[in-house]
Amino acid sequence: MLPAAFDLLLTNAHLATLTETGARYGAIHNGALGIREGQIAWVGTAADRPRGASARETLDCHGAWVTPGLVDCHTHAVYAGNRANEFEQRLHGTTYAEIARAGGGINATVRATRAASEDELIRQSRPRVAALAAEGVTTIEIKSGYGLETASELRQLAVARRLGEDVGVDVRTTLLAAHALPTEFEGHADSYIDYVCRDTIPAAAALRLADAVDAFCETIGFTAAQTQRVFDAARAHGLAVKLHADQLTDSGGAALAASAGALSADHVEHASEQGVAAMGRAGTVAVLLPGAYFALRDTHLPPIAAFRAHRVPMAISTDCNPGTSPTTSLLLMFNMACTLFRLTPEECLAGATVHAARALGLTDRGLLAPGQRADLALWDIAEPAELSYRIGSNPSIGVIRGGRVTRWRP
Ligand SMILES: [Zn+2]
Repeated sequence: MLPAAFDLLLTNAHLATLTETGARYGAIHNGALGIREGQIAWVGTAADRPRGASARETLDCHGAWVTPGLVDCHTHAVYAGNRANEFEQRLHGTTYAEIARAGGGINATVRATRAASEDELIRQSRPRVAALAAEGVTTIEIKSGYGLETASELRQLAVARRLGEDVGVDVRTTLLAAHALPTEFEGHADSYIDYVCRDTIPAAAALRLADAVDAFCETIGFTAAQTQRVFDAARAHGLAVKLHADQLTDSGGAALAASAGALSADHVEHASEQGVAAMGRAGTVAVLLPGAYFALRDTHLPPIAAFRAHRVPMAISTDCNPGTSPTTSLLLMFNMACTLFRLTPEECLAGATVHAARALGLTDRGLLAPGQRADLALWDIAEPAELSYRIGSNPSIGVIRGGRVTRWRP
């Protein structure tokens, strides 16, 4: 048999494979990893390296840890303006309701986003996507939801795609037209949902601008019946679905997402035991968003024990958005998920790689295993728990994307 030939061979690395090696993190100390044609071709210890395996290029990792490239599976990173003024007003005693009556809140972001040109949206959103990428994120989901009219929603999705090429990350787009009721449909939520189903979803599908469709099912969002109509329209156009579910109340969102075969139910702080059990049976991923929990000073913890008991995969994500989670640090979310939700550091790493990928319907990434896309993050850390332990530091020293070294500074 001919010796294996690699395009790129990583040596002198510790690997957090997240596969079943019997060790925590699926760790392989003193490992090596071979890449061929953009995919991982071989993973093992240096000692087990195939004898005589040739490599076109070798990267000495100097003892760095290598993990799958991070996946941020829930962001609203494309928008114009910000809401720092409202943050300040609230700390001076203005209530959220008063701010909303004065045209603030999500409506302020919708106005700014509708008014922004495509180039202006790129200019304002690029630093957010770049900041995520600088932390070893190689796949980012970006939702629309600040247009709330077809042309603006489509512009947000187009900007998200352009940003992916611009920054050099894989962007997955999600149409979230059912995010909030636009002011022009005030008191006519069903008519707005009609419009989304008849106009926005078909247009996004026809232009192939959306990889999935999401909705906000909540007392202050849309009802279960309205959400179901959005899901039906998405399905009719061949699009996967996801759901902002049970964030503020138990609205039956987890069970609704599970029964629709949704890729994920996100937030889920108030998900019921029945809803969690249904997610477990359906294989729906729970996407936990500790940044929003923190910013809203929420105290109702997501049912982590139930997710574990019902084997619901847990992902974690930034929820990067201007209102309730203005963060561009996925690693900070690792720390918050441990500190606030008591996830383990290993659950955090799996939650921002393999489970986050599954929350996007992607099975080709998220593990260090043969056949997976060679999207890798390299870290200057002594052990994987450091990724969760530190608060506000970035030990990312390298990124390999599709088998190509795109950043490396040992
Ligand atoms: Zn969200």
